[in-house]
Parts: sequence; structure tokens; C-alpha cells
Amino acid sequence: MDRMQNLDLDKSTVSRGLHWKLLFLLNSGGDKKQSSKSLLKALQSLQLSSGLLQSRLLERNIHFSSANAAHCRAILPCQDTPAVKLTYYAEVSVPKELVALMSAHRDGEMPDPEDSSRKIYRFSQNVPIPCYLIALVVGALESREIGPRTLVWAEKELVDKSAYEFAEAEAMLQTAEDLAGPYVWGQYDLLVLPPSFPYGGMENPCLTFVTPTLLAGDRSLSSVIAHEISHSWTGNLVTNKTWEHFWLNEGHTVYLERRIGGRLFGEQLRQFQALGGWRELQNTINTLGETNPITNLVPNLNEIDLDAAYSSVPYEKGFALLFHLEQLLGGPDVFIGFLKAYIQQFAYKSITTEDWKKFLYSYFKDKVDVLDKVDWNSWLHAPGMPPVKPTYDMTLANACVALSQRWIQAKESDLCTFNSADLKGMSSHQLIEFLALLLLEAPLPVSHVKRMQEVYNFNAITNSEIRFRWLRLCIQAKWEEAIPLALKMATDQGRMKFTRPLFRDLYSFDKSRDLAVKTFLEHRACMHPVTSMLVGKDLKQDQ
Ligand SMILES: [Zn+2]
Repeated sequence: MDRMQNLDLDKSTVSRGLHWKLLFLLNSGGDKKQSSKSLLKALQSLQLSSGLLQSRLLERNIHFSSANAAHCRAILPCQDTPAVKLTYYAEVSVPKELVALMSAHRDGEMPDPEDSSRKIYRFSQNVPIPCYLIALVVGALESREIGPRTLVWAEKELVDKSAYEFAEAEAMLQTAEDLAGPYVWGQYDLLVLPPSFPYGGMENPCLTFVTPTLLAGDRSLSSVIAHEISHSWTGNLVTNKTWEHFWLNEGHTVYLERRIGGRLFGEQLRQFQALGGWRELQNTINTLGETNPITNLVPNLNEIDLDAAYSSVPYEKGFALLFHLEQLLGGPDVFIGFLKAYIQQFAYKSITTEDWKKFLYSYFKDKVDVLDKVDWNSWLHAPGMPPVKPTYDMTLANACVALSQRWIQAKESDLCTFNSADLKGMSSHQLIEFLALLLLEAPLPVSHVKRMQEVYNFNAITNSEIRFRWLRLCIQAKWEEAIPLALKMATDQGRMKFTRPLFRDLYSFDKSRDLAVKTFLEHRACMHPVTSMLVGKDLKQDQ
């Protein structure tokens, strides 16, 4: 397959918002693998010479852009900062067997008057957005309706599975509206991308992009959908002015995501996931180092590559601050009032942490004494874990803590006491937490993970979040038999949350280091450019 792209800015209409025409060319022929490689080279050189392209040919027949966080400039001339918002209208001409979708309203389609083998798709986004939310996908896509305002788009083989997995989207949208105010974007569609998509999800307006690793078969990973839906308010309506204030986007979104989960699946689950977030933050800070300035909630990003600075800190430290404030200021019902007012106050704007804090003080003007006791400097500007740990209901966490402690303390002679009944009654969320707790500790002896496989058969589990943590545990325990499984997961999909730690662990294990490097070098041409760049750094392959 081959592809070229042509972009034409119609200057006369710029004053009414961005107006562009895109010609998307796709020429079939030749050996797929071979032509993919040469195409990628062509894209790379074109990207270097013209700065036009960031969207990539990946596997199969889907092409997608990824403007987030500062790559929109590679697609079109723009002020590539979240401080500026714009509306856009676009026409995309594609071979008629393919479908084009954008982060906008589908505004009709027609035959291309210049070429009968092609079709033109029209799009309009009438709500002003920062340009990192401009997104385009072209592919052999099908859709299923799963709600009054929601289609799920995917390749034919995955579309029914995806429709089942994400069927809760409308219930989540309604809950989010109840919590945060009206949904202003009209349509809310979901698009399932190829496995190389580097993120869990991307909140492109009207068309959330998601990884196929969410397709667990039992809707257990749907919190990512709640997260992307929540961005319709926090991030897409109220936007961080610069990427230093990214926590405003992500912390509030995680907060809303967990509120939606709490409404739909119970407060105990919200508390459990909040605690899981604290543990995730601990894990990230252990990896990055507790004095690393990138772990500041509001970091200094001068001269720092945004892709390399990305971590769970803005998500989970940001959430922890909001959860702490919820507990200080009168509980969930009081705090949601603040969040709703905050969204109303700053909708359609781009703001800084200072704007947020000023509004917090004005909203809670009768609780200034409480707010003044918050150690703002440590929360916002110091590295490492937050100065205060919020309190969490432990009902669902206790079983995970107890079982992980049994394994940590077990001697060889105790291994026979474990059996499959240990997991009875534990949800997949709890299995994830059990494994995550073990990953916070020193590696288990290899005899322990072997016994764990015997009694729990984790190798047979396909749920990506469980499998990821299990394989990390095995590699950290230096179990050689797990090497091929971990390499397979690291390369079968390219979600950075999974691929990077798996490659890092394989690199740290002397028995798998060379194979990890070799496998990465073989696969890197097919990886998303950001994933390839970061794994290359992790494996010391790039200067
Ligand atoms: Zn997010």
C-alpha cells in the first residue's frame, strides 16, 4: 500500500474558522510488509522536509493522525498551543471503499467530482477546540449504533465485539451530564484503532479514539470510556493553557471518571479505584525518582520533550489533590457543586493552575481557613509523593492486600498452602490490584511465580491489564519461561502503558536483554513513532 497526502488551506475562509481540503491517496500493490517499510521511510522524509505529516500508515487498512500533545504542526500550519481555540470545516477525499472520520460532526458525503473512484467526506466542528484535538482517521471501517448519539467504529472483525464492550457509553454520558452539565458536542462516537495505537484512549471531540486492548469481553476495562467521556468537559471545554498545567485536564478528568464509576457501580468501587490510583502514583514515582522535577504537579517543561515527560503524575497526583479537597471541603456532594461551577466558569477557555486556585477560593469563600491549611507549595511545586494521603474505604482492597501479603511472606515450604480457591469472589479489578501490589515490592522468588501459575493459571488470562502485570511479575522474578510471552505482549500491541514497562523489564533481565533489543529493532518500523522513540530510549538504542 502506498499513500500521499495533500493539504490546501483555503485562506478566504480562515476568519470563519479553519477550512481545509485534504486529498488522501492510497495506491495498493506489492508485498504489504515491504511497501509498508518503504512508505514509512517516505513519510519520514516527507515529514522532515515539509512538516506536513504525522498520520501514519500502520498495520492493515487504517491510517490515523495523532496531534496530541504538540504534533498538530506536523499536519497543518497552526498555532500549536492549547492556549488558542478554533472551529474547523474540512473536506476529505478518499478512495470510495474507505471511510474518513474526524473529531467533528459528519456533515455528509458525496462522489468526488474530480475522480469517480473517490468520495468526499465533509466535517464541521463548531465548538472551538485547541488544535491538539484535530484528528483524522481513514480506513476500512464499519459502525454499529450503541446509543442515541453513539456509533462504534472499528474494522469489520472487531465491530460487534466493540459494540458489546462499550455498550455502557450512553449510561456514562447521562451520568456525566448529571454531574458536570450539558454535553455540548452533539454526537459521541467511539473508534477502535489498530493495536499500535499508543494510548488507552484519546478524547478527540465527537470521536473518542481507543485501543483494542480494552476489548476484555466483559466490559471490565470500561473506566477508560468513562475517562474519555469526562474529557468532553474537563480538557475539551475547559483546557490547560500550557502543558505545565496538564493536571487540570487529567486530574479533573480522572476525578469525573471515578464519580461516573461510583454512580454506576457503587461508591466502594470508586474508593477502590481511587486507592489504586494512589498506588499507581507510588509506582510511577518509584520509577522516575522522588526528587525528579518531572514529578511536580506543575512541572517546568522548558526544553523538555512533551512525549518523554508524559507519566501518570498529572492524572493521579491531580486526582489525589481533588480527592483530598473533596474530603476537606465537605464530601462528594459539595465538591461536585464546585466542579460544575468550575466548568461553567471556564468553558471554551484555556486556563492555568492559578486561575483554578483563585476560583476554588472564591467558590469556597466561607472555607478559606480550611483552604489556607493546604500545603499548596508541596502539592503543586514539589516532586515526589503528595504531602498528605487522602483516606480511602478499604472494603474491596482488603482482600487484595491480604493475598499479596501472604505471597510476599511465604517461604518455600508455604507454597503448598496456596490454591485456586484463593481467588474465589475476586473481581478482575481486584486481581489487577493484587498483582499491582506485588509489583510495588521486591521481586518474588521464581519458585513463587511458578507456583502462582500452577494454582491460578494467569497465563491463560487475556484481560490486558491483568496479563501485563502478571508478565511483569514473572520477568522481574527472572522466570525464563515467561520471556516469549512478555515479548509477544510487548509487540502484539503498542499501548505505551504496557509496551514500555515490559520492554524495560526484559532489558533489565540479563537472560532477555539481547532478545529484547533484537525484537524491538525488528518491530520498530511498524511501531507508532512516539512509542518507537521512547522504547528506543528505554533500551538505550537512541542517542
Ligand atoms: Zn485523559
